[in-house]
Amino acid sequence: MSVTAFPEAGPDSKIADLHLHTRYSDGTFTPEELAENARREGLSAIALTDHDTVDGCAEAAEACHARGIEFIPGAEITAEIGGQEVHVLAYWIDTQSALLQQRFAEFQSIRTGRIHGMVRQLNERGVPLTAEAVFEVAQCKAPGRPHVARALVSGGFCSDFDDAFERYLKKGRPGWVPKPMVPATAAVELIHACGGVAVLAHPALYRADRLVTEAARAGIDGVECWHTKHNPEASRRYQKFAQDLNLVATGGSDCHGNSKGQPLIGRIRLPYAQVEQLRARRPGTVAATTSAPAPAPVTA
Ligand code: AMP
Ligand code: FE
Ligand code: FE
Ligand code: ZN
Repeated sequence: MSVTAFPEAGPDSKIADLHLHTRYSDGTFTPEELAENARREGLSAIALTDHDTVDGCAEAAEACHARGIEFIPGAEITAEIGGQEVHVLAYWIDTQSALLQQRFAEFQSIRTGRIHGMVRQLNERGVPLTAEAVFEVAQCKAPGRPHVARALVSGGFCSDFDDAFERYLKKGRPGWVPKPMVPATAAVELIHACGGVAVLAHPALYRADRLVTEAARAGIDGVECWHTKHNPEASRRYQKFAQDLNLVATGGSDCHGNSKGQPLIGRIRLPYAQVEQLRARRPGTVAATTSAPAPAPVTA
């Protein structure tokens, strides 16, 4: 896989990765392992963006602090725009907020119920997977399809993780259960109410660029231009969106540890200037009304 690098990020420049998962959702690293990998990759700042949970943030903050790495508490919220699933990244949210805790508890309960639904459908198709086996794999409050995939593999029902998605878990396959999703406007409002900034995650994965404009209308602060599933052309295209819509151009690897092969942490080396631009969008911050042009990426 090609690595998207940035001309501004010279050997002495600070770099960041703003999209990372741990085993508190569907990643495989502990927060400590994540921080250690960040140190090895020479990252100056990282954000933890587990799906619908901030449970790993306290541990990650401590592990980063011990290594001199700046830690940004975050999460990745599953939302929708016109029925299309989009992911909204949250940064600098108050992890202690009662409102956040309450909403995340609701999202987690939806996730747990969905696992039962997926298992039921798989059982009807003759796959004797149990919900207990999935929860045993997940061991977190935000279970999802990757945990079902791993349980299908360890139960001997699928040859590997990708096989599980391909045969059973992709949209339209026997184990697919639609997930109730909050409107993106509600996700953005929640994030802002909890003191955070909101970023549209990996837009290229939606194959519908109008969603970037609609997310901007929903009050989003930034757009994830650099992502391990974005090619250089996509990164450039979303930087143009960011410029035109006055959004901060951000980036992250979306590393899930070893759950999908080699860890991706460090593949996206975001110049720290983008972190500062994003921080300036925090509610209550006296921020510039326009952001500086985002750096042009080169493919190394
Ligand atoms: P869920 O939120 O339970 O629907 O699970 C979504 C997560 O599954 C995403 O965040 C990805 O980490 C992973 N995922 C989605 N589609 C695939 C796929 N086709 N192959 C592997 N992993 C996938
Ligand atoms: Fe994930
Ligand atoms: Fe995502
Ligand atoms: Zn993610």
